[in-house]
Amino acid sequence: MSNMEQDRWSRVKGRLRSSVGEDVYSSWFARMDLESVQDESVHLSVPTRFLKSWIQAHYAERVLTCWQAEMPEVHRVDVTVRTAMRCAPPAKEAAAPIDTRRTEGRDGRASSELRATAIAPVSASHEALGGSPLDPRLTFGSFVIGRSNTLAHAAARQVAEGRRGDSVMFNPLYIHAGVGLGKTHLLQAVTWAGNSGTERKVLYLTAEKFMYGFVAALKTQTALAFKEALRGIDVLVIDDLQFLQGKTTQAEFCHTLNALIDAGRQVVIAADRPPSDLESLDERVRSRLAGGLVVEMGSLGEELRLGILKSRVAAARAHHATFEVPAPVLDYLARTITHNGRDLEGAINRLLAHSKLNATPVTLEMAEREVRDLIRPQEPKRIKIEDIQRVVARQYNVSRSDLLSSRRTANVVRPRQVAMYLAKTLTLRSLPEIGRRFGGRDHTTVLHAVRKIEALVGKDTALQDEVESLKRQLQE
Ligand code: ADP
Ligand code: MG
Repeated sequence: MSNMEQDRWSRVKGRLRSSVGEDVYSSWFARMDLESVQDESVHLSVPTRFLKSWIQAHYAERVLTCWQAEMPEVHRVDVTVRTAMRCAPPAKEAAAPIDTRRTEGRDGRASSELRATAIAPVSASHEALGGSPLDPRLTFGSFVIGRSNTLAHAAARQVAEGRRGDSVMFNPLYIHAGVGLGKTHLLQAVTWAGNSGTERKVLYLTAEKFMYGFVAALKTQTALAFKEALRGIDVLVIDDLQFLQGKTTQAEFCHTLNALIDAGRQVVIAADRPPSDLESLDERVRSRLAGGLVVEMGSLGEELRLGILKSRVAAARAHHATFEVPAPVLDYLARTITHNGRDLEGAINRLLAHSKLNATPVTLEMAEREVRDLIRPQEPKRIKIEDIQRVVARQYNVSRSDLLSSRRTANVVRPRQVAMYLAKTLTLRSLPEIGRRFGGRDHTTVLHAVRKIEALVGKDTALQDEVESLKRQLQE
């Protein structure tokens, strides 16, 4: 390439950089090379197919414009994928088997360069991001199905059984539930099942790991390695999405989500709240998240709790054959430990430890003593206004933003009044505060709503039932 061409290419890149901004530029264009310029057409190359299709889909016009600013006669820009040969590392390295352990701990620019170009996406994924550790006990086999998780379980199974190239039924699959209700269990089950015996690659990441992986990748300038790594993934599983923070991370999450979904890859997400309540996330991301299948897992019913306890005992017996928990003890635990699956697991662990250490069988009396602190008194739960809005919105099939909006159609007005009534009766918030939390309404509006619902509940038994059911949902 002549010096003149080099200069021109630098100027085009400069224009592109200022047009799309530094972040986007370094994510998508840093590795774009000029191959040739011939008459009206420019030929560019990038190292991966994914980059090529991303650039073509999102920046084709922009790239052309930048060229035309330098060379008005240009009418077309072709982007191709550089052949592997061109980026191949020295023969010695290339011939070595790719073993993620081998390069662990190696650092610095040279090796990250290498990884970025030469290593197959899947191993790069382990290098650049490293899936979060998986717990071998969290499989479908040990997942107990009950009323509150039937749908989530069925959807997760469906995802796990998909094969490479199958069309994706719902994307993303978004599962939300409170603490200890089985989100991580289900997500890891998907990962285990998906990775065993199929040719698919399922990567499980906590949101923290996603952030850490990305930030780390940026620091070693392997943002592209990261993207390439993702390219090799058939199913991306992200746990605890509510912890995703930071503007860059979110932008990157958004890119990743879009890229994967558009490429027909499956995305599975768990969080402690529905997409609409992920307040720190960009509106577009939220709507993309809500665009697949959103499933909530409810609290564990007594039967389900009993099932979980039994499954835990069975698992423990694999290593401690003499460990036995009599049925009345299991019933007692299922009845009294109501909060979440973690406490159930904790209870069994304690009984096991106690019976091992003292070489005594498990009795009801011992169980009562051992798990006393896991049985939380039914203290009234602190109810938040957001919870009220969420539960009411769900019950009446409106959105939370409808409740906060100024819309005055009947299907929103009543739920809004019910929600304000519940906010007044179930929390200690003042009328003005409630008004503020409902889209900046005046306290007299809140008062009116409270009185209105109070009066109606006395006469209208259907409404009374609805309100009771809402209260129960909020207090459970
Ligand atoms: P979350 O991620 O929703 O906070 P986890 O998946 O970590 O909850 O579950 C907490 C504990 O409860 C784990 O030990 C898990 O195995 C157990 N658990 C929850 N739901 C179930 C279920 N349906 N079947 C079996 N174990 C469950
Ligand atoms: Mg979890």
